Amino acid sequence: MISVKEALQLVEQNAIYGETISVSTAEALGCILAVPAVAIINMPPFPQSAMDGYAVRISETSGNYVLKGEVKAGDEHSYDLKKGEAVRIFTGASVPDTADAVIMQEKVTRKNDSEITLEENPKLNQNIRPLGEQFSVGQEIIGKGTLLNPAALSYLVSAGITSVKVYRKPKVAIVITGNELIDINSPYQQGKIYESNSILLRSELNQLRIDEVTIIRIGDDYQTTEDTLREALNAYDFVLVSGGISVGDYDFVGKALTTIGTEEIFYKIKQKPGKPLYFGKHEGTFVFGLPGNPASSLTCFYMYVTPLLKRFIGSSNIHLERKQLPIAHAYTVKGIRAQFLKALVRDDKVSVMDQQSSAMIASFIQANSYIFLPEYSENLTENESVEVILL
Ligand code: AMP
Ligand code: MG
Repeated sequence: MISVKEALQLVEQNAIYGETISVSTAEALGCILAVPAVAIINMPPFPQSAMDGYAVRISETSGNYVLKGEVKAGDEHSYDLKKGEAVRIFTGASVPDTADAVIMQEKVTRKNDSEITLEENPKLNQNIRPLGEQFSVGQEIIGKGTLLNPAALSYLVSAGITSVKVYRKPKVAIVITGNELIDINSPYQQGKIYESNSILLRSELNQLRIDEVTIIRIGDDYQTTEDTLREALNAYDFVLVSGGISVGDYDFVGKALTTIGTEEIFYKIKQKPGKPLYFGKHEGTFVFGLPGNPASSLTCFYMYVTPLLKRFIGSSNIHLERKQLPIAHAYTVKGIRAQFLKALVRDDKVSVMDQQSSAMIASFIQANSYIFLPEYSENLTENESVEVILL
């Protein structure tokens, strides 16, 4: 059995980046850039009007301008303005090179079809977005390692970038073990419970924008366990096994993994919940044996599986953020193992939630953090500083 710290170090040591691939910008939401993105065009691509109004070539002597025509958004044009000349212009339209200000229409009096008077003196370059104001051709506009959110995709498209190099997403198998489990779509049967870990783990994977997830359900049968795991280890990047990793007579996952020849990185951590966690590697595939109790499974997923997944998809920062906060109430510590207590951070204080049992998932609906208690922690008094891990 190892400590939480040792387990986290082993996860860190084994974390690797996935390969990089090209994807179309339209498909890149949630991907992490592996190579900086470089602009194909200038933005704006031409001096652009920021207002509906009039583009003028400034005359120092008079507020009266001769109107030469009109430029709408999207128009190509070839107006060559002389001092004292103007064109009608609209937001987003190309400003003639010879114009040196755009005057908003509210500050202009239109005398007739061919003459306007400005109500105030124009300022040089006023209301003109200069060519390349946002970026120029060849400029690096988004750095390597950036998570592509909707704004990033919009920015890439504005720069004419149709595809990007990103880290690929892993293919993940979730292997659910347990004779007692029935599918949510079947009628309830005595002695059984509804199988709820697959939706839990799959949804967590989806939140990391990992969508290639296969769910395989097996009973507590040794040969089926071995065959299923052997096949999954050959076909996926990550295999997450739920249940069957403990020491019961019908827990076959550990034995099957050993028979298959999986390299064990660790098995069992001095922690609560999630003591029987298994982590191993088989020819480039990572395998976790997660305890079946839903809250244990989720804690192990957050603390040990997520960092590996995050690194695979290109994150440099893979661990959850930690900080010290005062606890809002006294707390009696049970047991000597390190503990991850589902907790709520509110108004710069943290409190332990009800329902800490490994079998109970409910506290995770509201929890936004863990209080992490190291091994052999003493009872806590109100306002004592504790280590908080933010979810
Ligand atoms: P195990 O780790 O297989 O010993 O299971 C520990 C506990 O978690 C048992 O009470 C199981 O019934 C429960 N459990 C295991 N797998 C699941 C699952 N997929 N969904 C809900 N509960 C589960
Ligand atoms: Mg079981």
